[in-house]
Amino acid sequence: KKIIIAIDGYSSTGKSTVAKQLAKALEYIYVDTGAMYRAVSLFAMQNGLINESHFDKEALEEKLPEINIKFVLNSETGIAETFLNDKNVERDIRSLTVSRYVSKVAAFSSVRKKLVEQQKQMGINRGIVMDGRDIGTIVFPDAELKVFMTATAKDRAERRYLELKEKGEDVSYEDVLKNVVNRDHIDSTRKDSPLRQAEDAIKIDNSNLTLQEQFDQLLELATD
Ligand code: C5P
Repeated sequence: KKIIIAIDGYSSTGKSTVAKQLAKALEYIYVDTGAMYRAVSLFAMQNGLINESHFDKEALEEKLPEINIKFVLNSETGIAETFLNDKNVERDIRSLTVSRYVSKVAAFSSVRKKLVEQQKQMGINRGIVMDGRDIGTIVFPDAELKVFMTATAKDRAERRYLELKEKGEDVSYEDVLKNVVNRDHIDSTRKDSPLRQAEDAIKIDNSNLTLQEQFDQLLELATD
C-alpha cells in the first residue's frame, strides 16, 4: 500500500538528500516544498517586489495567479528540477540571495495558501515523499509516516557552506551560519503554521549520522 511520507525540519538538515533517495527506493514521487517557496521568492525578486528594505506584499498577492511552479524530471540525472513559468530555475533558487528573502516570503499567508493547495493535490494518489516545514502538521496531517529532522546549527551551516562553495558561490561561513539561524527563527515564530514537530512525528537528529544511516532508518520506518 502506498503511503505519504512527510519529512519536516530545520533548514539545511540534509532532509532533501535523504528524502530523494527514499523516494527513489520506494518508487514514490519526491516533492521539495522549499523549492516552491524559493521559486516564489525568485519571482518576487525578479519583479522588484522584494529587496533588503521593502516587501510589497500587495503586489505579490496580485501577481500570485501568474506564478506557475512545476517539477520536471531531468531524464539524464533522474532528478526533478524546479520550473518557474516554464523556465528552469533549479540553480537560481539555491543561491544565498534567495535564501535571504525566502523565509519572509514564506511567512506571507497568501503565498502559503497557494502552495499548500498545490502540495495537497500532488499527494492525492499517495506514494509521495514530501519535505518541508509544515508537511506533517498542515499539508498532510494524515501522513502515515512523519519524520522531524534536526541537527545543530553549526553542523547544518557547515554542510550548506560546503555545498555553496562547491557550486562556486562566493560566500563566507559566517554569512551562511547567520542565514541558517535567521531562517530558523523566522520559520519557527511566524504566525501561520510555524515550524514545529507534529505530535506523531519521529525525531531524527542527524548531527552524527551518515547519509546511509539516515536512509536505512527511514527505509525501515517506511516499510514496517
Ligand atoms: O527547505 P528549504 O531550506 O529550501 O526551504 C527554504 C525556506 O522555505 C525555508 O527556510 C522556509 O522559510 C520556507 N519553507 C516553508 N514551508 C515549507 C518549506 C519551506 O515555509 N514547507
